[in-house]
Amino acid sequence: MARIVMKFGGTSMAGIERIRNVAARVKREVERGNEVAVVVSAMAGETDRLVNFCREASPLYDPKEYDVVVAAGEQVTSGLLAITLQAMGVKARSWLGWQLPIATSDAHASARIATIDTDKLAQAMRDGEVAVIPGFQGMTEEGRVTTLGRGGSDTSAVAVAAAMKADRCDIYTDVDGVYTTDPRIVPKARKLQYVTYEEMLELASVGAKVLQTRSVGLAMKERVRVQVLSSFGDAPDGGDLPGTMIVDENEIEGSTMERQLITGIAHDKNEAKVTLTAVPDKPGAVANIFGPLADANINVDMIVQNVAHDTGSTDVTFTVPRAELARALDVLDKARGSIGFDKVVHDTSVSKISVVGVGMRSHAGVAAQMFKALADRGINVLAITTSEIKVSVLIHEDYTELAVRVLHTAYGLDATDEAA
Ligand code: ASP
Ligand code: MG
Repeated sequence: MARIVMKFGGTSMAGIERIRNVAARVKREVERGNEVAVVVSAMAGETDRLVNFCREASPLYDPKEYDVVVAAGEQVTSGLLAITLQAMGVKARSWLGWQLPIATSDAHASARIATIDTDKLAQAMRDGEVAVIPGFQGMTEEGRVTTLGRGGSDTSAVAVAAAMKADRCDIYTDVDGVYTTDPRIVPKARKLQYVTYEEMLELASVGAKVLQTRSVGLAMKERVRVQVLSSFGDAPDGGDLPGTMIVDENEIEGSTMERQLITGIAHDKNEAKVTLTAVPDKPGAVANIFGPLADANINVDMIVQNVAHDTGSTDVTFTVPRAELARALDVLDKARGSIGFDKVVHDTSVSKISVVGVGMRSHAGVAAQMFKALADRGINVLAITTSEIKVSVLIHEDYTELAVRVLHTAYGLDATDEAA
């Protein structure tokens, strides 16, 4: 017997027919003798619809009331799944965020989970009843409804799994796992059997949108074993097709699988490049640039400071989220006096390509191989950042697909015919 949290995303919950399919999967786990709690998303598109109602009602909506509105999508699906399970003869009960409760901070629209009271969940398990929990929502100390930020039901599921000390948190979605890269770009992309938390964190934050990044961070902190798998399609025996397990590095080392140097390649077109020309080359210059951006809550990602010109000035290039570009330009304009630059040049037709793998900790030359592979195809590198397990380059967005394909081949990730 295992204790499993099953989480179903918006496409899996979109309509009664799909909810029946979800209920059948839940029933199967129950019949295998497992203890099951389920976390659900709103039907696909529903949260967007609710967000738009808020905007229409008033562009300056009160975040407390926004949470009341947008949390409703998950309330609907959790009730519908409980009804469907009951109709299939499975004991089930929904538990809304405030009923458990799931206690969160009071940062409305982007609340953080503080604690989850597991009394009612434990009681449900003792009674052989499936607890159905709406993802994305919680409650403040004062008892007001909160939501966790878009995509937050993954985080709810991992948090419930951690609180219940579940053996596994199965995240059912519309893809059947985590791939070496986007299969729409590289048909020879392979599904990964295992990914480490750290790799998944990097892949999630650089644009492989399978899981909310926060949920991966939480899984890593709480050591929750997470599996990503598809809620569509079955194995020949009627069981679930295996997905990708996100686990601790030690767990993978013990497996027979030969580790690749590079685990995955991600691309991200959500950044914009900004260059400030002729910034004085003196102490405090970069602090004058990035201080005001940080104060405005604008996340700077890549940074390049060029060598100084003879004139005692230098160009500074960095990236910000595309959606924040206008705000960033405004902040820079206001700080112009204290920074002292000549021009601001910006470019939104850029794309960030990242190669990720824990294997690079113990191998030299990963970055060099990347630059060479790109250079051979005439792809110019505009900026670079690295971490212990990641190398990212900024390139012109027209080369995104080519770069991903070339790197996938260069690092030996292409599936061979028999493996594909
Ligand atoms: N329904 C919420 C959203 O669309 C939460 C989620 O599905 O993860 O953002
Ligand atoms: Mg999601």
